[in-house]
Amino acid sequence: MPFLEPERYFARVTRIDPKADLLACNYRHMLLDMDNTILSRATHDIPVDVLTWLGNVRDAGVKICLLSNNWHASPYETAERLDLPVVAKACKPLPHGYLAARQILGARSADTVVVGDQLSTDVVGAHLLGMAAYLVCPLVEQDLRHTQALRALERSMLGARVPEGAQACSGDD
Ligand SMILES: [Mg+2]
Repeated sequence: MPFLEPERYFARVTRIDPKADLLACNYRHMLLDMDNTILSRATHDIPVDVLTWLGNVRDAGVKICLLSNNWHASPYETAERLDLPVVAKACKPLPHGYLAARQILGARSADTVVVGDQLSTDVVGAHLLGMAAYLVCPLVEQDLRHTQALRALERSMLGARVPEGAQACSGDD
């Protein structure tokens, strides 16, 4: 698989259907990015529809571990709030965080999907370990300065690829 090409690309994390896009593909474990994937960089909160989606994913039987490069307290606070395991300070795309999260879940690469909003971290790290990667559009444009710089590069690499569910998402934010 090309390192910088996600298996799927969604307009918002909530567009990932637990049954059709996870279980039907044998993805029973998910390594889930936090910042701007489920937690808005603008409000520092989890949108209501994302909370509902997280509940639906867990109800479907998919096990989730948060995997974040964030070095502050917020990944631990978010994990506690959601009652999810977390690997923070993960240094994605380096493999050690992915391996730790995979071990927490008792998962194998073949039954795990990585979900996140950045090609150069979430997607590349997943592919280094032979895991599938679902890229999602960031919840908001606001982000750290170095992330925004990377994002411009990532957008050019995605080219004309249109995220799934883009039309249905318009007006959600
Ligand atoms: Mg992120």
